[in-house]
Amino acid sequence: MGLKQSESNFTADLVIVGGGIVGATLAAALKDSGLEILIIEARPLAIAAAKKQAYSFSLLSSQIYQGIGIWEKIYPQIGKYDRISLSDADYQRRVEFDTNDLNTKHLGYVAPHNVVLTALQQYIAECDNVNWLSPATVTGVDNSERYSTVEVQIDNQPKLIQTKLAIGADGAKSHIRALAGIETKGWKYWQSCVAFTVKHTAPENNTAFERFWPTGPMGVLPLPGNRCQIVWTNPHKQAQALQKLDQQEFLAKLSYHTGGVLGDLQLEGERFLFPVQLMQCDRYIKSRLALIGDAAHCCHPVGGQGLNLGIRDAASLAQILQTAHHQGEDIGELKILKRYESWRKLENLTILGFTDFLDRMFSNNWLPIVLVRRLGLWLMSYLKPLKIFALKLMTGLKGKTPQLAQR
Ligand SMILES: Cc1cc2nc3c(=O)[nH]c(=O)nc-3n(C[C@H](O)[C@H](O)[C@H](O)COP(=O)(O)OP(=O)(O)OC[C@H]3O[C@@H](n4cnc5c(N)ncnc54)[C@H](O)[C@@H]3O)c2cc1C
Repeated sequence: MGLKQSESNFTADLVIVGGGIVGATLAAALKDSGLEILIIEARPLAIAAAKKQAYSFSLLSSQIYQGIGIWEKIYPQIGKYDRISLSDADYQRRVEFDTNDLNTKHLGYVAPHNVVLTALQQYIAECDNVNWLSPATVTGVDNSERYSTVEVQIDNQPKLIQTKLAIGADGAKSHIRALAGIETKGWKYWQSCVAFTVKHTAPENNTAFERFWPTGPMGVLPLPGNRCQIVWTNPHKQAQALQKLDQQEFLAKLSYHTGGVLGDLQLEGERFLFPVQLMQCDRYIKSRLALIGDAAHCCHPVGGQGLNLGIRDAASLAQILQTAHHQGEDIGELKILKRYESWRKLENLTILGFTDFLDRMFSNNWLPIVLVRRLGLWLMSYLKPLKIFALKLMTGLKGKTPQLAQR
Protein backbone atom coordinates (compact mmCIF):
# COMPACT_ATOMS: atom_id res chain seq x y z
CA MET A 1 0.00 0.00 0.00
CA GLY A 2 1.91 3.00 -1.27
CA LEU A 3 -0.69 5.60 -0.42
CA LYS A 4 0.22 8.03 2.30
CA GLN A 5 -2.55 9.70 4.27
CA SER A 6 -2.25 12.75 6.51
CA GLU A 7 -5.25 14.26 8.36
CA SER A 8 -7.27 15.19 5.31
CA ASN A 9 -4.88 14.71 2.40
CA PHE A 10 -3.51 11.83 0.37
CA THR A 11 -0.47 11.87 -1.83
CA ALA A 12 0.31 9.60 -4.79
CA ASP A 13 2.75 9.77 -7.71
CA LEU A 14 -0.06 9.34 -10.19
CA VAL A 15 -3.81 9.88 -9.88
CA ILE A 16 -6.03 8.29 -12.54
CA VAL A 17 -9.54 9.78 -12.64
CA GLY A 18 -11.95 7.16 -14.05
CA GLY A 19 -11.82 3.42 -13.45
CA GLY A 20 -13.39 2.36 -16.75
CA ILE A 21 -11.49 -0.07 -18.98
CA VAL A 22 -9.03 2.58 -20.20
CA GLY A 23 -8.14 4.02 -16.77
CA ALA A 24 -7.85 0.53 -15.25
CA THR A 25 -5.61 -0.60 -18.17
CA LEU A 26 -3.21 2.26 -17.46
CA ALA A 27 -3.04 1.34 -13.75
CA ALA A 28 -2.50 -2.36 -14.54
CA ALA A 29 0.17 -1.59 -17.15
CA LEU A 30 2.13 0.35 -14.49
CA LYS A 31 2.30 -2.55 -12.04
CA ASP A 32 6.09 -2.83 -12.11
CA SER A 33 6.78 0.87 -12.59
CA GLY A 34 7.61 1.67 -8.96
CA LEU A 35 5.05 4.51 -9.10
CA GLU A 36 2.42 4.83 -6.36
CA ILE A 37 -0.93 5.05 -8.12
CA LEU A 38 -4.39 6.05 -6.99
CA ILE A 39 -7.33 5.25 -9.26
CA ILE A 40 -10.56 7.11 -8.51
CA GLU A 41 -13.90 5.77 -9.76
CA ALA A 42 -17.23 7.53 -9.22
CA ARG A 43 -19.29 4.32 -9.13
CA PRO A 44 -18.89 1.28 -6.88
CA LEU A 45 -16.54 -1.14 -8.69
CA ALA A 46 -19.15 -3.88 -9.22
CA ILE A 47 -21.53 -1.35 -10.80
CA ALA A 48 -18.80 0.13 -13.02
CA ALA A 49 -18.06 -3.39 -14.27
CA ALA A 50 -21.71 -4.35 -14.83
CA LYS A 51 -22.25 -2.20 -17.96
CA LYS A 52 -24.16 -4.21 -20.58
CA GLN A 53 -21.98 -3.68 -23.62
CA ALA A 54 -19.56 -5.73 -25.69
CA TYR A 55 -16.75 -4.38 -27.85
CA SER A 56 -14.91 -5.53 -30.90
CA PHE A 57 -11.43 -6.11 -29.55
CA SER A 58 -8.47 -5.72 -31.90
CA LEU A 59 -5.47 -8.06 -32.19
CA LEU A 60 -3.33 -5.28 -30.74
CA SER A 61 -5.59 -4.94 -27.67
CA SER A 62 -5.30 -8.71 -27.12
CA GLN A 63 -1.49 -8.42 -27.31
CA ILE A 64 -1.53 -5.57 -24.75
CA TYR A 65 -3.54 -7.74 -22.32
CA GLN A 66 -1.17 -10.65 -22.95
CA GLY A 67 1.66 -8.28 -22.01
CA ILE A 68 -0.12 -7.23 -18.81
CA GLY A 69 -0.87 -10.87 -17.98
CA ILE A 70 -4.68 -11.02 -17.90
CA TRP A 71 -5.43 -12.41 -21.37
CA GLU A 72 -5.68 -16.00 -20.16
CA LYS A 73 -8.53 -14.95 -17.86
CA ILE A 74 -10.34 -12.99 -20.57
CA TYR A 75 -9.86 -15.35 -23.55
CA PRO A 76 -12.22 -18.23 -22.55
CA GLN A 77 -15.10 -15.81 -21.90
CA ILE A 78 -15.18 -13.86 -25.16
CA GLY A 79 -16.25 -14.21 -28.80
CA LYS A 80 -13.63 -14.88 -31.50
CA TYR A 81 -13.88 -14.21 -35.20
CA ASP A 82 -11.83 -15.71 -38.01
CA ARG A 83 -13.51 -13.88 -40.86
CA ILE A 84 -14.54 -10.29 -41.51
CA SER A 85 -17.04 -9.51 -44.24
CA LEU A 86 -17.77 -6.01 -45.59
CA SER A 87 -20.76 -5.51 -47.85
CA ASP A 88 -22.73 -2.67 -49.37
CA ALA A 89 -26.47 -3.26 -48.78
CA ASP A 90 -27.70 -5.80 -51.35
CA TYR A 91 -24.69 -5.48 -53.67
CA GLN A 92 -23.41 -9.02 -54.30
CA ARG A 93 -19.66 -8.33 -54.23
CA ARG A 94 -18.27 -8.42 -50.70
CA VAL A 95 -14.80 -8.01 -49.29
CA GLU A 96 -13.93 -11.08 -47.24
CA PHE A 97 -10.92 -11.25 -44.93
CA ASP A 98 -9.76 -14.44 -43.22
CA THR A 99 -6.95 -15.58 -40.96
CA ASN A 100 -4.72 -16.52 -43.94
CA ASP A 101 -4.49 -12.81 -44.76
CA LEU A 102 -2.49 -12.18 -41.57
CA ASN A 103 -1.41 -15.72 -40.62
CA THR A 104 -3.07 -15.37 -37.23
CA LYS A 105 -5.32 -17.74 -35.29
CA HIS A 106 -8.16 -15.18 -35.17
CA LEU A 107 -8.80 -11.78 -36.74
CA GLY A 108 -10.31 -10.27 -33.61
CA TYR A 109 -12.44 -10.76 -30.53
CA VAL A 110 -15.70 -9.55 -29.01
CA ALA A 111 -15.31 -8.81 -25.34
CA PRO A 112 -18.16 -8.05 -22.91
CA HIS A 113 -17.41 -5.00 -20.73
CA ASN A 114 -17.84 -6.92 -17.46
CA VAL A 115 -15.37 -9.65 -18.49
CA VAL A 116 -12.58 -7.16 -19.24
CA LEU A 117 -13.16 -4.73 -16.38
CA THR A 118 -13.60 -7.49 -13.79
CA ALA A 119 -10.31 -9.09 -14.90
CA LEU A 120 -8.57 -5.71 -14.62
CA GLN A 121 -10.10 -5.01 -11.19
CA GLN A 122 -8.96 -8.41 -9.90
CA TYR A 123 -5.47 -7.87 -11.28
CA ILE A 124 -5.22 -4.38 -9.76
CA ALA A 125 -6.34 -5.74 -6.37
CA GLU A 126 -3.06 -7.74 -6.39
CA CYS A 127 -0.87 -4.75 -7.33
CA ASP A 128 0.90 -3.40 -4.24
CA ASN A 129 1.48 -0.02 -5.87
CA VAL A 130 -2.14 0.68 -6.91
CA ASN A 131 -5.06 1.73 -4.67
CA TRP A 132 -8.69 2.27 -5.60
CA LEU A 133 -10.77 5.13 -4.26
CA SER A 134 -14.36 4.13 -5.05
CA PRO A 135 -17.05 5.32 -4.98
CA ALA A 136 -15.47 8.77 -5.05
CA THR A 137 -15.98 11.63 -7.48
CA VAL A 138 -13.35 14.11 -8.60
CA THR A 139 -14.72 17.65 -8.48
CA GLY A 140 -11.63 19.78 -9.02
CA VAL A 141 -8.04 19.73 -10.29
CA ASP A 142 -5.58 22.52 -9.68
CA ASN A 143 -2.20 22.43 -11.39
CA SER A 144 0.84 24.22 -10.01
CA GLU A 145 4.34 24.02 -11.45
CA ARG A 146 5.50 21.21 -9.15
CA TYR A 147 2.36 19.19 -8.52
CA SER A 148 -1.33 18.83 -9.20
CA THR A 149 -3.99 18.92 -6.48
CA VAL A 150 -7.06 16.78 -7.09
CA GLU A 151 -10.24 17.46 -5.09
CA VAL A 152 -12.38 14.41 -4.49
CA GLN A 153 -15.71 13.83 -2.74
CA ILE A 154 -15.84 10.70 -0.61
CA ASP A 155 -19.16 10.21 1.26
CA ASN A 156 -19.88 13.90 0.60
CA GLN A 157 -16.63 14.87 2.33
CA PRO A 158 -14.07 16.80 0.25
CA LYS A 159 -10.46 15.50 0.32
CA LEU A 160 -7.38 16.83 -1.40
CA ILE A 161 -4.84 14.62 -3.13
CA GLN A 162 -1.46 15.86 -4.17
CA THR A 163 0.16 14.17 -7.16
CA LYS A 164 2.89 14.60 -9.75
CA LEU A 165 0.46 13.84 -12.55
CA ALA A 166 -3.34 13.65 -12.91
CA ILE A 167 -4.82 11.53 -15.71
CA GLY A 168 -8.30 12.18 -17.13
CA ALA A 169 -9.71 8.74 -18.06
CA ASP A 170 -13.22 9.90 -17.23
CA GLY A 171 -14.94 9.29 -20.55
CA ALA A 172 -16.47 11.39 -23.32
CA LYS A 173 -18.02 13.98 -20.99
CA SER A 174 -14.70 14.37 -19.14
CA HIS A 175 -14.94 16.78 -16.21
CA ILE A 176 -11.13 16.80 -16.00
CA ARG A 177 -10.90 18.04 -19.59
CA ALA A 178 -13.42 20.83 -18.86
CA LEU A 179 -11.64 21.84 -15.64
CA ALA A 180 -8.35 22.07 -17.54
CA GLY A 181 -10.01 24.31 -20.15
CA ILE A 182 -8.99 21.98 -23.00
CA GLU A 183 -11.06 22.66 -26.11
CA THR A 184 -12.34 19.97 -28.47
CA LYS A 185 -13.12 19.82 -32.17
CA GLY A 186 -15.66 17.57 -33.86
CA TRP A 187 -19.32 17.08 -34.55
CA LYS A 188 -22.35 15.10 -33.57
CA TYR A 189 -23.61 12.74 -36.28
CA TRP A 190 -27.15 12.84 -37.67
CA GLN A 191 -27.33 9.21 -36.58
CA SER A 192 -27.72 7.17 -33.38
CA CYS A 193 -26.85 3.54 -32.74
CA VAL A 194 -29.18 0.89 -31.44
CA ALA A 195 -27.03 -1.70 -29.63
CA PHE A 196 -28.37 -5.09 -28.51
CA THR A 197 -27.63 -8.82 -28.27
CA VAL A 198 -29.41 -11.61 -30.15
CA LYS A 199 -29.36 -15.38 -29.98
CA HIS A 200 -29.39 -17.04 -33.40
CA THR A 201 -29.40 -20.43 -35.12
CA ALA A 202 -26.67 -19.95 -37.76
CA PRO A 203 -24.46 -23.10 -37.90
CA GLU A 204 -21.28 -21.03 -37.50
CA ASN A 205 -20.59 -18.02 -35.31
CA ASN A 206 -17.10 -16.95 -36.34
CA THR A 207 -17.64 -14.03 -38.73
CA ALA A 208 -17.76 -10.34 -37.86
CA PHE A 209 -19.62 -8.46 -40.49
CA GLU A 210 -20.24 -4.85 -41.29
CA ARG A 211 -23.11 -4.27 -43.66
CA PHE A 212 -23.46 -0.72 -44.96
CA TRP A 213 -26.98 0.53 -45.56
CA PRO A 214 -27.75 4.04 -46.90
CA THR A 215 -29.27 4.80 -43.46
CA GLY A 216 -26.02 3.76 -41.70
CA PRO A 217 -23.72 0.80 -41.03
CA MET A 218 -24.69 -2.32 -39.13
CA GLY A 219 -21.95 -4.19 -37.24
CA VAL A 220 -22.56 -7.83 -36.22
CA LEU A 221 -20.06 -9.28 -33.73
CA PRO A 222 -20.02 -12.93 -32.57
CA LEU A 223 -20.33 -13.65 -28.84
CA PRO A 224 -20.01 -17.06 -27.14
CA GLY A 225 -23.12 -19.31 -27.12
CA ASN A 226 -24.46 -18.55 -30.64
CA ARG A 227 -25.11 -14.96 -29.74
CA CYS A 228 -24.16 -11.70 -31.46
CA GLN A 229 -23.72 -8.13 -30.35
CA ILE A 230 -25.25 -5.87 -32.99
CA VAL A 231 -24.70 -2.13 -33.39
CA TRP A 232 -27.18 -0.75 -35.89
CA THR A 233 -26.74 2.88 -36.99
CA ASN A 234 -29.71 4.88 -38.28
CA PRO A 235 -30.77 8.54 -38.48
CA HIS A 236 -31.91 9.63 -34.98
CA LYS A 237 -35.67 9.31 -35.50
CA GLN A 238 -35.42 5.91 -37.18
CA ALA A 239 -33.08 4.68 -34.45
CA GLN A 240 -35.55 5.82 -31.76
CA ALA A 241 -38.37 4.07 -33.60
CA LEU A 242 -36.29 0.86 -33.89
CA GLN A 243 -35.62 0.91 -30.17
CA LYS A 244 -39.35 1.04 -29.42
CA LEU A 245 -40.56 -1.23 -32.23
CA ASP A 246 -42.57 -4.32 -31.28
CA GLN A 247 -40.15 -7.22 -30.80
CA GLN A 248 -41.46 -9.43 -33.64
CA GLU A 249 -41.44 -6.54 -36.13
CA PHE A 250 -37.98 -5.54 -34.95
CA LEU A 251 -36.62 -9.05 -35.45
CA ALA A 252 -38.22 -9.30 -38.91
CA LYS A 253 -36.52 -6.03 -39.93
CA LEU A 254 -33.26 -7.24 -38.45
CA SER A 255 -33.49 -10.52 -40.34
CA TYR A 256 -33.94 -8.62 -43.60
CA HIS A 257 -31.02 -6.26 -42.88
CA THR A 258 -28.68 -9.13 -41.97
CA GLY A 259 -29.62 -10.95 -45.19
CA GLY A 260 -31.15 -13.83 -43.19
CA VAL A 261 -27.67 -15.30 -42.54
CA LEU A 262 -28.24 -15.60 -38.78
CA GLY A 263 -31.27 -17.91 -39.08
CA ASP A 264 -33.92 -17.61 -36.35
CA LEU A 265 -33.38 -14.66 -34.05
CA GLN A 266 -34.22 -14.06 -30.42
CA LEU A 267 -33.63 -10.75 -28.66
CA GLU A 268 -31.63 -10.98 -25.41
CA GLY A 269 -32.17 -8.09 -23.01
CA GLU A 270 -32.73 -4.44 -23.87
CA ARG A 271 -32.07 -2.34 -26.93
CA PHE A 272 -29.81 0.58 -25.96
CA LEU A 273 -29.71 3.86 -27.85
CA PHE A 274 -26.48 5.87 -28.23
CA PRO A 275 -26.09 9.16 -30.09
CA VAL A 276 -22.69 9.23 -31.82
CA GLN A 277 -20.05 11.89 -32.23
CA LEU A 278 -16.57 12.49 -33.53
CA MET A 279 -14.36 14.44 -31.15
CA GLN A 280 -10.67 15.13 -30.79
CA CYS A 281 -9.14 17.37 -28.09
CA ASP A 282 -6.97 20.28 -29.20
CA ARG A 283 -4.40 19.04 -26.68
CA TYR A 284 -4.04 15.72 -24.86
CA ILE A 285 -1.77 17.22 -22.22
CA LYS A 286 -1.04 20.20 -20.01
CA SER A 287 1.60 20.51 -17.35
CA ARG A 288 0.83 17.74 -14.78
CA LEU A 289 -2.22 16.52 -16.71
CA ALA A 290 -2.90 14.03 -19.54
CA LEU A 291 -6.12 12.76 -21.14
CA ILE A 292 -6.63 9.20 -22.40
CA GLY A 293 -9.46 7.20 -24.00
CA ASP A 294 -12.82 8.82 -24.66
CA ALA A 295 -11.77 11.84 -22.56
CA ALA A 296 -9.31 12.66 -25.39
CA HIS A 297 -11.18 11.42 -28.49
CA CYS A 298 -14.41 9.73 -29.63
CA CYS A 299 -15.32 8.20 -32.97
CA HIS A 300 -18.23 6.64 -34.83
CA PRO A 301 -18.66 2.98 -33.74
CA VAL A 302 -18.33 1.75 -37.35
CA GLY A 303 -15.35 -0.61 -37.37
CA GLY A 304 -15.38 -0.90 -33.54
CA GLN A 305 -12.31 1.25 -32.88
CA GLY A 306 -13.05 3.62 -29.94
CA LEU A 307 -12.10 1.49 -26.96
CA ASN A 308 -9.16 -0.05 -28.83
CA LEU A 309 -7.70 3.43 -29.32
CA GLY A 310 -8.07 4.12 -25.59
CA ILE A 311 -6.34 0.84 -24.65
CA ARG A 312 -3.49 1.81 -26.96
CA ASP A 313 -3.29 5.29 -25.34
CA ALA A 314 -3.02 3.61 -21.94
CA ALA A 315 -0.24 1.20 -23.04
CA SER A 316 1.73 3.98 -24.74
CA LEU A 317 1.45 6.39 -21.82
CA ALA A 318 2.41 3.64 -19.36
CA GLN A 319 5.57 2.95 -21.36
CA ILE A 320 6.54 6.64 -21.43
CA LEU A 321 5.87 7.20 -17.71
CA GLN A 322 7.67 4.03 -16.62
CA THR A 323 10.75 4.86 -18.71
CA ALA A 324 10.80 8.46 -17.45
CA HIS A 325 10.45 7.36 -13.82
CA HIS A 326 13.26 4.79 -14.15
CA GLN A 327 15.49 7.49 -15.63
CA GLY A 328 14.82 9.71 -12.62
CA GLU A 329 12.70 12.21 -14.58
CA ASP A 330 9.62 13.97 -13.18
CA ILE A 331 6.62 12.20 -14.82
CA GLY A 332 4.41 15.32 -14.69
CA GLU A 333 6.72 17.55 -16.71
CA LEU A 334 5.42 18.78 -20.01
CA LYS A 335 8.44 17.52 -21.96
CA ILE A 336 7.64 13.94 -20.84
CA LEU A 337 3.94 14.26 -21.60
CA LYS A 338 4.68 15.66 -25.06
CA ARG A 339 6.17 12.25 -25.95
CA TYR A 340 2.73 10.74 -25.32
CA GLU A 341 0.84 13.40 -27.27
CA SER A 342 3.11 13.19 -30.30
CA TRP A 343 2.86 9.38 -30.30
CA ARG A 344 -0.92 9.11 -30.02
CA LYS A 345 -2.65 12.24 -31.35
CA LEU A 346 -1.96 11.75 -35.04
CA GLU A 347 -2.53 7.97 -34.93
CA ASN A 348 -5.92 8.53 -33.29
CA LEU A 349 -6.81 11.23 -35.80
CA THR A 350 -6.08 8.80 -38.66
CA ILE A 351 -8.58 6.27 -37.27
CA LEU A 352 -11.14 9.00 -36.50
CA GLY A 353 -10.83 10.12 -40.14
CA PHE A 354 -11.11 6.51 -41.39
CA THR A 355 -14.34 5.84 -39.45
CA ASP A 356 -15.82 9.17 -40.57
CA PHE A 357 -14.93 8.41 -44.20
CA LEU A 358 -16.55 4.97 -43.98
CA ASP A 359 -19.75 6.31 -42.44
CA ARG A 360 -20.15 9.21 -44.91
CA MET A 361 -19.14 7.21 -47.96
CA PHE A 362 -21.64 4.44 -47.27
CA SER A 363 -24.53 6.30 -45.56
CA ASN A 364 -25.38 7.76 -48.90
CA ASN A 365 -27.52 6.91 -51.92
CA TRP A 366 -26.17 9.44 -54.42
CA LEU A 367 -25.35 7.46 -57.56
CA PRO A 368 -21.79 8.79 -58.21
CA ILE A 369 -20.86 7.98 -54.59
CA VAL A 370 -22.50 4.55 -54.84
CA LEU A 371 -20.43 3.81 -57.97
CA VAL A 372 -17.17 5.04 -56.39
CA ARG A 373 -17.62 2.97 -53.24
CA ARG A 374 -18.54 -0.16 -55.17
CA LEU A 375 -15.41 0.34 -57.26
CA GLY A 376 -13.53 0.72 -53.95
CA LEU A 377 -14.93 -2.59 -52.66
CA TRP A 378 -14.07 -4.27 -55.97
CA LEU A 379 -10.50 -2.91 -55.84
CA MET A 380 -10.10 -3.99 -52.24
CA SER A 381 -11.14 -7.55 -53.02
CA TYR A 382 -8.66 -7.79 -55.93
CA LEU A 383 -5.68 -5.70 -54.79
CA LYS A 384 -4.06 -7.73 -52.03
CA PRO A 385 -1.77 -4.90 -50.69
CA LEU A 386 -4.80 -2.60 -50.33
CA LYS A 387 -6.77 -5.36 -48.62
CA ILE A 388 -3.95 -6.16 -46.18
CA PHE A 389 -3.43 -2.45 -45.44
CA ALA A 390 -7.14 -2.03 -44.55
CA LEU A 391 -7.08 -5.20 -42.43
CA LYS A 392 -3.99 -4.12 -40.51
CA LEU A 393 -5.57 -0.72 -39.86
CA MET A 394 -8.75 -2.38 -38.49
CA THR A 395 -6.86 -4.87 -36.32
CA GLY A 396 -4.54 -2.26 -34.79
CA LEU A 397 -1.42 -3.59 -36.52
CA LYS A 398 -0.54 -0.27 -38.17
CA GLY A 399 1.27 2.45 -36.24
CA LYS A 400 3.82 2.30 -33.45
CA THR A 401 3.42 -0.78 -31.24
CA PRO A 402 3.72 -0.32 -27.45
CA GLN A 403 6.40 -2.53 -25.85
CA LEU A 404 3.74 -4.25 -23.71
CA ALA A 405 2.25 -5.73 -26.89
CA GLN A 406 5.62 -7.13 -27.96
CA ARG A 407 6.27 -9.25 -24.87
C1 LIG B 1 -22.84 1.89 -29.57
C2 LIG B 1 -21.38 1.87 -29.33
C3 LIG B 1 -20.63 0.75 -29.69
C4 LIG B 1 -19.26 0.72 -29.49
N1 LIG B 1 -18.57 -0.37 -29.90
C5 LIG B 1 -17.22 -0.39 -29.75
C6 LIG B 1 -16.46 -1.50 -30.19
O1 LIG B 1 -16.98 -2.48 -30.74
N2 LIG B 1 -15.11 -1.48 -30.03
C7 LIG B 1 -14.48 -0.41 -29.47
O2 LIG B 1 -13.24 -0.43 -29.37
N3 LIG B 1 -15.18 0.66 -29.01
C8 LIG B 1 -16.52 0.70 -29.14
N4 LIG B 1 -17.24 1.78 -28.69
C9 LIG B 1 -16.53 2.87 -28.01
C10 LIG B 1 -16.31 2.53 -26.51
O3 LIG B 1 -17.58 2.29 -25.91
C11 LIG B 1 -15.60 3.68 -25.77
O4 LIG B 1 -14.52 4.13 -26.56
C12 LIG B 1 -15.07 3.21 -24.42
O5 LIG B 1 -16.11 2.67 -23.63
C13 LIG B 1 -14.40 4.36 -23.66
O6 LIG B 1 -13.83 3.87 -22.47
P1 LIG B 1 -13.22 4.88 -21.37
O7 LIG B 1 -12.67 4.01 -20.29
O8 LIG B 1 -12.33 5.88 -22.03
O9 LIG B 1 -14.47 5.70 -20.84
P2 LIG B 1 -15.74 5.21 -19.98
O10 LIG B 1 -16.09 3.79 -20.29
O11 LIG B 1 -16.79 6.25 -20.19
O12 LIG B 1 -15.20 5.23 -18.47
C14 LIG B 1 -15.06 6.43 -17.75
C15 LIG B 1 -15.11 6.11 -16.25
O13 LIG B 1 -14.84 7.32 -15.52
C16 LIG B 1 -15.74 7.40 -14.41
N5 LIG B 1 -15.87 8.84 -14.10
C17 LIG B 1 -16.42 9.81 -14.85
N6 LIG B 1 -16.32 11.01 -14.25
C18 LIG B 1 -15.68 10.79 -13.06
C19 LIG B 1 -15.27 11.64 -11.98
N7 LIG B 1 -15.49 12.97 -12.01
N8 LIG B 1 -14.65 11.08 -10.91
C20 LIG B 1 -14.39 9.74 -10.87
N9 LIG B 1 -14.76 8.89 -11.88
C21 LIG B 1 -15.39 9.42 -12.96
C22 LIG B 1 -17.03 6.77 -14.93
O14 LIG B 1 -17.85 6.31 -13.85
C23 LIG B 1 -16.49 5.61 -15.80
O15 LIG B 1 -16.34 4.41 -15.08
C24 LIG B 1 -18.61 1.84 -28.90
C25 LIG B 1 -19.35 2.96 -28.51
C26 LIG B 1 -20.72 2.97 -28.74
C27 LIG B 1 -21.50 4.21 -28.35
